[in-house]
Amino acid sequence: MNNLPEFLALGVAEELIPALIAKNFQTPSAIQSLAIPLLLSGEKDLIGQALTGTGKTAAFGLPVIQTLVPGKTPQALILAPTRELSIQIADELRSLSVNKPLRIVPFFGGQLITFQMDELKKGVDIAVGTPGRIMDLYRRGKLRLDQLKFAILDEADEMLDMGFIDDIREILSLTNPDKRMLMFSATMPPEIMDIAAEFMRPEYEIAKTSGGSATNTTLTEQYFHEVKREHKLDALSRLIDANSELYAMVFCRTRADVDEVTEKLHSRGYRVEALHGEISQAQRLRVINAFKKHKFPLLIATDVAARGIDVNDLTHVINYSLPQNSDIYIHRIGRTGRAGRHGVAVSFVTPGERRKLKLIEKDIGNEIPLKKLPEIADIIEAKKQLFAENIALLLENGDAAPYINFAEELCTLGSHPAEALAAMLKLYFKDELLPESYRDFSGGKQKSATDPNMKKLLLFSGRTDGLTVPELIREICERTGIKGSQLGKIILRADKTFINASPADAEKILAAFKNDKKWHFKYDSPKEEHRKKAYSPEKEKKKKIKTHKPLREEFFKWIAESE
Ligand code: ADP
Ligand code: MG
Repeated sequence: MNNLPEFLALGVAEELIPALIAKNFQTPSAIQSLAIPLLLSGEKDLIGQALTGTGKTAAFGLPVIQTLVPGKTPQALILAPTRELSIQIADELRSLSVNKPLRIVPFFGGQLITFQMDELKKGVDIAVGTPGRIMDLYRRGKLRLDQLKFAILDEADEMLDMGFIDDIREILSLTNPDKRMLMFSATMPPEIMDIAAEFMRPEYEIAKTSGGSATNTTLTEQYFHEVKREHKLDALSRLIDANSELYAMVFCRTRADVDEVTEKLHSRGYRVEALHGEISQAQRLRVINAFKKHKFPLLIATDVAARGIDVNDLTHVINYSLPQNSDIYIHRIGRTGRAGRHGVAVSFVTPGERRKLKLIEKDIGNEIPLKKLPEIADIIEAKKQLFAENIALLLENGDAAPYINFAEELCTLGSHPAEALAAMLKLYFKDELLPESYRDFSGGKQKSATDPNMKKLLLFSGRTDGLTVPELIREICERTGIKGSQLGKIILRADKTFINASPADAEKILAAFKNDKKWHFKYDSPKEEHRKKAYSPEKEKKKKIKTHKPLREEFFKWIAESE
């Protein structure tokens, strides 16, 4: 059996190896190779710098776990910027210490402090917490900080960014001077060196893995799509539609962007959730947990809110907006292509941002090529292919066998079995596989259907009534004198059609077709349409196996249950 010789060679004890095997660690990451031997031999303090997602937690966690002897008073204190991170670090350390009865407990605001005081009374070996709550517990006389073997600042740069500097200073000054102090961080701003100068013993070591060489970038394919700002949402919808296995984080620059993108995708029926600083802690925690459990495939976030969240199996990182600099770019894309899996980093770049992209390319020493967005035909093809694969799977498993008699009966309905099958496809997909039901923005000449100045009309007649778009335009133009090019987007559905037009034109159309038996127009109420789309029961049933849309009700149900 493989007993992970590379970890043993770093000095990791045999008793910890089964935990690593269980976690499917195979080789140490760069920061682990540097930091673990330093921490297991010697007594020096240490600054560890490596990109997000490179295994910094285990880099300090393994030596700490190996060194400590189970006791009662905290022997290691780990400070982290947020409660999610505190929980995540505690979880990671627990999973690394399955063979050792160490008590590892997260402490954070928002949880009953009396509960946390009880935990301390029972005995804690490793306390992980946010500076505020740690300070609070100390002041209440419940947390001892004078028996520490290790004091560790994790995500130190982030804690400084969040203004924890005073709390950190105070906490560190309360700890016993003979502990080892460690700081881990993705970046090394000067303030960190200040802390080091003030609180670390002078001979401290620095373990730094070089900038762009995160272990995962080789597994990450990077490219960009050129997308005008007003088409970004459509572009994102296409990416979602084209990738049935998508499990992605989408990065926006501001909170407002996050909210807007989330809302608009909701209204298009996609299952996405938002994460930013203004969302309540309880909600954030729920969203993160649900995302980790793949309850929904797309998380829309700001950089700060997403910081340190550890998800291993993202298929894509999507830069909805380019980040301000290459450091943030690397952080973002470091979240995919992990744990031996292939990942994709896609950036939406507006024509004006090409120079900014060049700068990022220069900094990271990598070319980021341009790629065309998936065409509508590609999306439809992807859906067809997935469907065919599902069919093949059912056939292979024999799961469809109970329906064979009914199938034979249905086949007699058409003059050819394919006709019956086609009818079934229509029933199942409605118009989903027809190009007309997609919004085409690539030509860019038409006013977008979402143009806020346009009015949306609903015509109670559609493809099954023999209606075609050219016929409709001809009819409207003849009766109203409006030019075809003045009209906005036209969406032809089976039983109805949507026509976008300027308010004045919309009025003209309504007047021209008033009381017409065949052509019955009215103003569409967009909210209703969205709701119908998002919650239509047939859609929910089928989406379960194949796309990212609906299922929102299920998600809410899950949210409600977990409350
Ligand atoms: P960082 O703190 O550097 O952002 P984490 O410590 O959160 O990174 O680790 C990111 C993920 O990588 C975690 O899920 C962790 O379990 C995993 N990981 C850490 N080290 C290894 C390794 N040597 N092999 C495989 N996965 C690892
Ligand atoms: Mg970390």
